[in-house]
Amino acid sequence: MKRPEKIVILGSTGSIGQSTLTVVRESAGKFEVVGLAAGRASDELQRQIDEFKPQVVAVRSNDAYDRLVRLNRSKPHAPRMMHGQEGLERLAALPGAAKIVNALSGGAGIRPSLSALNAGKSLLLANKEALVAAGEIIMKSAKANKTTILPVDSEHSAIFQCLRGESKKSVRKLYITASGGPFLNRKTTKGITAQMALRHPKWKMGPKVTVDSATLMNKGLEVIEAMWLFDVPLERIRVLVHPECVIHSMVEFCDGVTIAQLSAADMKIPIRYALNYPHRAAVENVQAPDFAGIGKLTFFEPDLRRFPCLELARAAADEKGLLPAMLSAADEVAVEAFLKGRIGFGSIPLVIEYVLDKGRASGAAKEKVTLEAVLAADSEARSMAREYIKRQ
Ligand code: MG
Repeated sequence: MKRPEKIVILGSTGSIGQSTLTVVRESAGKFEVVGLAAGRASDELQRQIDEFKPQVVAVRSNDAYDRLVRLNRSKPHAPRMMHGQEGLERLAALPGAAKIVNALSGGAGIRPSLSALNAGKSLLLANKEALVAAGEIIMKSAKANKTTILPVDSEHSAIFQCLRGESKKSVRKLYITASGGPFLNRKTTKGITAQMALRHPKWKMGPKVTVDSATLMNKGLEVIEAMWLFDVPLERIRVLVHPECVIHSMVEFCDGVTIAQLSAADMKIPIRYALNYPHRAAVENVQAPDFAGIGKLTFFEPDLRRFPCLELARAAADEKGLLPAMLSAADEVAVEAFLKGRIGFGSIPLVIEYVLDKGRASGAAKEKVTLEAVLAADSEARSMAREYIKRQ
């Protein structure tokens, strides 16, 4: 048997992190988890450490680090322990690891993504915010280091699969499908609570991406993500609402042929694909779509009036510079405030619009995109968003 492939999982206690570990478990020794990173030293993280015995573990804060050290003091397989942003970046570049799964949520994923690519690792990217904020830098780094970015987002995994063996020149259009989220047929955003927004009809995901799905900001971020990953101009990327969630995205080619990827709505599928690429893993008991049972597939245009976030994202990507970084950071703050009950659902796009307008006024769209500039724009956008929220 071949030696196991060494992988690191950043964000191991989140939804994608846990699904990745499920895929590792089912793959009978094909992968070895050598590094884990999580926000807190939670019981879940400790269970993962005890089961997978990674060499290195990183947590966010000093306090979490102290707890981690305490919990592992007497363990025979105690990992090396790290904390903070530096811990994440070192873990992303861990010598010996071949694949880095970046399943962090939000802007925290930017620097670890670059760290992995600069160390020549394959980056399995579930963190879309990194590409939204710093797509230009990330794609340049992947190219310079001759390494690959394998998308873990289901739509991008679908497009990646549709594009296999195709020439870039023959791509005419990308279709990103959207379930439409829990409020697809709701007339007004008034009265929507966090609890309601967290109940996604099709996908089981973390809180940030679930709320983003409800506002359709998730699709906006995914359009920008696709633009960078597949080098396709914004105007040739379309969003299509497809409530059955069977087609995960499609590519239209220059000869009028469209190729789609169909599977169950299960994040383990794109994770498994990225981990095993360029091969396909044979999995028992995997649920494939039952077409006769599904009966019909429907599609329609998104309602931009009710879901303004999609247009905000497109506009920021079109104007370029640091605006996408500001969009992403503002959204993160707005979603957090909504989840804590500080602002209503309908205020999420207002926070983002306020921050983007301030960014436009200060010339952020014209600014050169460097890592320092992106990180500065990110933190500036966060304080602008907080200041707006405080006034509500
Ligand atoms: Mg997605």
